[in-house]
Amino acid sequence: MRDDAMIYLMYHELEVEGRSLCHGEQGYVRYVVRVPAFREQMNWLKSVGCQGTSVSNALTPTTTPRIVITFDDGCETDLIVAAPILRKLNFGATFYITVDFLGRRGYMVPSQVRELSDAGFEIGCHSMTHPCLSDLNDTELNREIAEAKVRLEEMIGRHVQHFSCPGGRWSPRVAEVAKRAGYVTVATSRIASNGPRSDRFQLSRVVVMRDANLADFQDMCHGRGLWRRQLVNSLRSTSHRVLGNGLYNRLRSFILERNA
Ligand SMILES: [Zn+2]
Repeated sequence: MRDDAMIYLMYHELEVEGRSLCHGEQGYVRYVVRVPAFREQMNWLKSVGCQGTSVSNALTPTTTPRIVITFDDGCETDLIVAAPILRKLNFGATFYITVDFLGRRGYMVPSQVRELSDAGFEIGCHSMTHPCLSDLNDTELNREIAEAKVRLEEMIGRHVQHFSCPGGRWSPRVAEVAKRAGYVTVATSRIASNGPRSDRFQLSRVVVMRDANLADFQDMCHGRGLWRRQLVNSLRSTSHRVLGNGLYNRLRSFILERNA
């Protein structure tokens, strides 16, 4: 939690008991943290004197230990669950919104994004339609990065300065288009901490998954074992690509059973 090696946490939807999730696939649910776990994580940060903060605030140096808290996609639980918990602890956060998801079941509507912004939380952009950015041509990239920014700015009446890549798919062209559009940072899903010399257009983040217990979370916040997490993540996405989901899952259960 040192300022020269800042951790940017990445969350998605939160699970409220009795409320259905935006999507039910296992690949999605893995990223959905249950509310009691989220509350426990935030309370622990507070108890050790660590300030949860937004991306903008993280760019200004201070002596207080800080952790950046980010959410991707724009789920309704950002406003109705995460925001009250964060506000109670006096924590800031950045919420990256996918413009075209707004109004779908489980996601916010534009007035709720405005409400989140008016409550003092930072709104960032997570593209227009959540595509794989590395597959797009320049016109499409511009729509996903620059036009989505304008749409959000009209929605909240404030500047939108931060972008996060859908699915973590970053490329130098993404950084270029974001720079031209007037963004100040671009966040990826590469698991590492960010130092003062880190490229602001390729910020790393540490994803908090559903199965993380408090000890795992504490390790993440202290930056312990991040390279191992990154390695597991890269292997997972490579195996998915090479084997396809079905074969990958069968292989995974086979290995898990053998190890058990
Ligand atoms: Zn996303």
